[in-house]
Amino acid sequence: VVVTRFAPSPTGFLHIGGARTALFNWLYAKARGGRMLLRIEDTDRTRSTQAAVDAIIDGLEWLGIDWDGSPISQYERADRHRSVAEELVAKGKAYYCYCTPADLEVMREKARAEGRPPRYDSTWRDRDPSEAPAGVKPAIRIKAPHEGETTIDDQVQGQVNFPNKDLDDFILLRSDGNPTYMHAVVVDDHDMGVTHVIRGDDHLTNAARQKIIYDALGWDFPVMSHIPLIHGPDGAKLSKRHGALGVEAYRAMGYLPAALRNYLVRLGWGHGDAEVLSTDEMIELFDLSGIGRSPSRFDFAKLENLNGVYMRQTPDGELLAQIERMLPEIEGGPDLLARLDPEMKFKLLQAMAGLKERAKTLVELVDGANFLFAQRPIAIDEKASALLDPAGKAVVGALAEQFSGLGDWSAASTEAIVRTYAEQEGLKLGKVAQPLRAALTGRTTSPGIFDVLAVLGQDEAVGRLRDAA
Ligand code: GLU
Repeated sequence: VVVTRFAPSPTGFLHIGGARTALFNWLYAKARGGRMLLRIEDTDRTRSTQAAVDAIIDGLEWLGIDWDGSPISQYERADRHRSVAEELVAKGKAYYCYCTPADLEVMREKARAEGRPPRYDSTWRDRDPSEAPAGVKPAIRIKAPHEGETTIDDQVQGQVNFPNKDLDDFILLRSDGNPTYMHAVVVDDHDMGVTHVIRGDDHLTNAARQKIIYDALGWDFPVMSHIPLIHGPDGAKLSKRHGALGVEAYRAMGYLPAALRNYLVRLGWGHGDAEVLSTDEMIELFDLSGIGRSPSRFDFAKLENLNGVYMRQTPDGELLAQIERMLPEIEGGPDLLARLDPEMKFKLLQAMAGLKERAKTLVELVDGANFLFAQRPIAIDEKASALLDPAGKAVVGALAEQFSGLGDWSAASTEAIVRTYAEQEGLKLGKVAQPLRAALTGRTTSPGIFDVLAVLGQDEAVGRLRDAA
């Protein structure tokens, strides 16, 4: 049975690269009827925060990525990490190192002077602990092989060989009793029954060191897949401006979780040229062999287009729910949310079909819905004001009076009035619709004008037209 895991360090938001890693692990497990586990790598107490844990969980939930069982805290497993390190010492696979920070500094100086990378010189590997200086608490180091190579058969990177002379006797347990990341990951992955590790290729060198620990313990090494990191459109490391943001920032930019998920799966993985994939299709098609070896480039324009596609195919009620989820996080959003009472929701739903055609993000959609929230006398922007010249005002004034007498208020009935009026006045329909739009929405673009009239309702529409006239 396949077991994958997502193992974020809770030092910040759920980063977009982390979200993709989580998605790949989730898809791989789902596709094979397996399980995905969530492990919070909170061993570094100074950098880990509960706020970051919450943000990661919130980000995963919003993206629709779930995990099996409860999240596992790495920190809470420290006793187990300690006992496995001691077990390795007992088996002669690891040893106590009594070097002081000063000793290690001397070692580093020496390496620097000789122009080689600093490496632990294995001083205590064969020394008798009885020679230990009094009062020095030892660290535990692995007895790493010094000759030959450590080979990782990576599903994405292929076979990667690491000369062992480059990997020193690294630390498993620090002198303060805390495990290193390297050691904790191995013990946890083994205890959690992880069969497949899928993570960023910045961990590839760690994989070689981890393999040495697995071998020392006689444990099975999981199947490794190190995926290339996400780069910016310029091919350089992803910068904030180019998308290196937390998932919540994408939510606040008005992207739908389904669209972001679809965008992320295509970022570094492909199946032919299929771009729009439902979750079921992703699960069916996802495979490690479809992961590319070169870094993918983050492209906001592509994400936006995909989001537009998803906006049009998402049911209106779901769009409304996502808008409510987003509003607290955008500028001016809390005020709009406060005004989103059942009546306003009803209006928004009525206008949704017209609004979603014109928007690629929920932020644009809400902006397009501005006219619904506007209160009389509504603000009229500069371009719209220009349409309300004397001729425009005359049109608006005349129609206000005709509309006020209408018994049946619908898009069809207002359209009939506008058409007749235009014909009588010898005006093109546009010449009538434009000042109407300006007076009703304060802008020069909006959903279809008869839909706007219908959604606003007779009293509000007539009032706005009179205000403008
Ligand atoms: N905690 C590590 C990170 O956030 C991931 C470790 C792993 O996947 O093995 O980069």
